[in-house]
Amino acid sequence: MPSVLIVEDEPAIADTLIYALETENFAVTHVATGGEAWAHFESHAPDFVVLDIGLPDFTGFDVCRTIRQSSQVPILFLTARSSEIDQVLGLELGADDYVTKPFSPRAVVARVRAILRRGGSNSTATQHSDLLFHCCETMSIHCCNQPLDLTAYEYKILAILLEQPGRVFTREQLLIQAWDDPGSAMDRTIDAHIKSLRAKLRDVSNDAAETIQTRRGLGYALVL
Ligand code: CA
Repeated sequence: MPSVLIVEDEPAIADTLIYALETENFAVTHVATGGEAWAHFESHAPDFVVLDIGLPDFTGFDVCRTIRQSSQVPILFLTARSSEIDQVLGLELGADDYVTKPFSPRAVVARVRAILRRGGSNSTATQHSDLLFHCCETMSIHCCNQPLDLTAYEYKILAILLEQPGRVFTREQLLIQAWDDPGSAMDRTIDAHIKSLRAKLRDVSNDAAETIQTRRGLGYALVL
């Protein structure tokens, strides 16, 4: 069971991350300051660090530098502003990756898994397009860090597809899950919403629009 240290001072964000990681069988420890992070790191040597940048005492950058003096443990930054991303990418801090708030806890878990799978530290941050993020709390979906302006049905359909990337959903399955009264809608309704969803994604990014794939004769799948 890999151990993960979460360093995050916002309790709501920490709680969703703790829940998501523990559900996936990670052993999670949470601290809210840089000082505590360093103390825990020295005594417990976790397998992975999820590190917020804006902390009450030190910055996440300071914590990362200190950790890197003695360890190549994978570090995933949580960033709140684009200026922070520039710093992550520019300073060669030895972070393995970053995610931008607001993020979906599932996406963070997927990132943690991917970094652990590839064997941890790259020593430089990799650039991610962060194509699509679903924030359940605000019921919004972000494409390339921009919030999408979606109708209720577009939102529901995309959220369903995002929940299980790679899974093919039939039109009927999408209707049943997204509509309160599926009997009143038709398969073609789904096609129309998918068409407008793709158009909205294409306005932001062609790559994002191509994540929604048509499986002819079957339905739709989202492929990240
Ligand atoms: Ca913070």
